[in-house]
Amino acid sequence: MTRQAIVAANWKMNGSLALIDEMVSGLKDVKLNQNVDVVVCPSAPYLAAFALATKNEGLSENFHLGAQNVSEHEKGAYTGEVSTTMLREVSTEYVILGHSERRSLYKETSTLVAHKVKAVLAAGLKPILCIGESESERTTGQTEVVLAAQLQPVIDEIGIEKFNEVVVAYEPVWAIGTGKTASPAMAQETHEFIRQFLANADVEVAKRVPLLYGGSVNAANCEELFAQADIDGGLIGGASLKVDEFKVICSAAK
Ligand code: PGA
Repeated sequence: MTRQAIVAANWKMNGSLALIDEMVSGLKDVKLNQNVDVVVCPSAPYLAAFALATKNEGLSENFHLGAQNVSEHEKGAYTGEVSTTMLREVSTEYVILGHSERRSLYKETSTLVAHKVKAVLAAGLKPILCIGESESERTTGQTEVVLAAQLQPVIDEIGIEKFNEVVVAYEPVWAIGTGKTASPAMAQETHEFIRQFLANADVEVAKRVPLLYGGSVNAANCEELFAQADIDGGLIGGASLKVDEFKVICSAAK
């Protein structure tokens, strides 16, 4: 079956207004395969500028804006937080949730991530739910247990039907920003496990969920990764800050 393919750029705490201009004008002539969407996720202060630049440059409907995090609360006394309503108001469509940096540095638990997924869906936004094991978890054979423990609270919170609107990004922690990519075969094997895990809850939903691979994806390795049966695109960190390289990655998705 044809699933939506997605290449998402996770700029993390990088980028600038200048990079937004450069990226948006660069993306104008990128060649995308059919069924590929591109989502750029800059830091929150840049979302409105990105939306405006996209409109001014007349980027096609395949290009979308994403945030890197959001509050699970609707509004109120939460200093420093950003709400789903605010994201929507500046044309955001996707939200990265549960990134390993947020789980480890900001102590976000799988329960909190599940609440955020629910809030994002309730606001009509699409979550990009990140899951992934650490190096020691992989070497001690716990990968599947860890991934299941990250997915199950979300299934419990929103119900499997709602996964029709969820994108899952598998990002082995040991591959993020390290230059160490999972081999295409290893990535495929893990993606297959994730799809099977979702299929245990609902076979049809599992067939439709886009599963992205993330972790040191670059122009040189993207093609082989994206060729794997259960890999529907990528979540790109470092390489998404280089316009020319990001364009190559976008064009490789199918
Ligand atoms: P990386 O980051 O591509 O720099 O490894 C990916 C991510 O953290 O989403």
